[in-house]
Amino acid sequence: MLKCPNCTSKDIGKIGPEQYYCWSCFIELSYKDEMLSLHQVEEDGSLSSLDDLFTDEERKCDGASF
Ligand SMILES: [Zn+2]
Repeated sequence: MLKCPNCTSKDIGKIGPEQYYCWSCFIELSYKDEMLSLHQVEEDGSLSSLDDLFTDEERKCDGASF
């Protein structure tokens, strides 16, 4: 089960191929090359990256969780 690296919630919805959304803290997660990328959706609809806030270890995901 995929867990949100930001809030550890499991309330994750799939919004596209390898794209997920955390309904708990409202961030977008995308999965690529065994790493999660985290993005905050701004009010104007643009995305800002949150990757800098997390270590590689926290973002690493083996894909088995999906
Ligand atoms: Zn979250």
